[in-house]
Amino acid sequence: MLNNLEEEDLDFEEALTLASSGNLSEICKAADSIRKKYYDNIITFSSNVFIPLTNYCRNSCGYCGFRREPGNPSGRIMKPDEVKTVLIKGKEVGCTEALFTFGEKPEEKYPEVKELLEEWGYSSTVDYLYDLCLMSLEIGLLPHSNPGIIERDEIKKLKQVNASMGLMLETSSERLCEPGEAHGHSPGKLPKHRIKTIEYAGELRVPFTSGVLLGIGETLGERIESIYVLKNLHDKYDHIQEIIIQNFDPKPNTPMENVPPPRLKDIILTAAITRLVFKGETNIQIPPNLNIKHERELLTSGMNDWGGISPITADEINPTHSWPSKKKLGKITKEAGFSLIERLPIYPKYIQKNYISSIVAPLVHELADKKGYRKM
Ligand code: SF4
Repeated sequence: MLNNLEEEDLDFEEALTLASSGNLSEICKAADSIRKKYYDNIITFSSNVFIPLTNYCRNSCGYCGFRREPGNPSGRIMKPDEVKTVLIKGKEVGCTEALFTFGEKPEEKYPEVKELLEEWGYSSTVDYLYDLCLMSLEIGLLPHSNPGIIERDEIKKLKQVNASMGLMLETSSERLCEPGEAHGHSPGKLPKHRIKTIEYAGELRVPFTSGVLLGIGETLGERIESIYVLKNLHDKYDHIQEIIIQNFDPKPNTPMENVPPPRLKDIILTAAITRLVFKGETNIQIPPNLNIKHERELLTSGMNDWGGISPITADEINPTHSWPSKKKLGKITKEAGFSLIERLPIYPKYIQKNYISSIVAPLVHELADKKGYRKM
């Protein structure tokens, strides 16, 4: 079975058998050879500012240390001026991406959030986000928004002002939405809703980021199934530009604070199986700040992207995990035998395929080199 992994299409059963085999080094060898074939020796990253627009959220995931209730002193919605300050600083230090991330549709759950947005002249967070993305484009940063599950017309609107967008599938397991499980109090985490949003993005030709969250109670079979859900969506629409293999990280004072995080070898195995399933069809990203000191081991998995690295803002979802500097990441990547190249939030393939609106296109072309990476 291990003979033709570089060439053959694996079905779900074969991938699961392989993942259960314990043959990690052979799996990684095949994944590495696929990465070489399609990505040469290039590992990419983007330079971003992280904008946590609001930490109010209608969901309550068992592992979340980011969410706050209205009334909590650290609960907030960033004001336009606060966002503007971060964007300007990001531009000054050479970032190209504004990563907008926030709790999902808080206005549906909290009347005070709805009232505040209305006071500012907006009917929803998505409505507010649209204007902030326009501001970002004017300042010179390409927006990449993660607005949670949204409707088709909302994606259509946001596509006009975003270079790319994202929604983690996290898991395709409905079981994890049952009471007592990680998503037991999170209506927005029902897989069918998330799949629908990713599907809308495909129909509307939005360069899209998705991924899986490892260690939230899923079985190995459910983990592999999630990869196939993403594969089927990508086969249909050719829009998933990257898949993030993200590890759950226990946060204090959350229901899952005592759940152990996934093992490094499980992160590597999942990335390698994803590479074998997707071949050269999508970029595979592992966040380095969640795996500090293990970057070299991660590079054995067939991954080819480190994701967004911010020189000036924190990862507000994982605030105790600082980003490595570009210099440090470059050194580690080079020592492992690869070149580190900066990209934009939209990958070269989707610039070539023209998956961008006429509002976003001028800035993309200003910032991209001939190959579609960041112009230096
Ligand atoms: S993880 Fe995201 S969706 Fe879940 S509660 Fe936190 S902010 Fe909301």
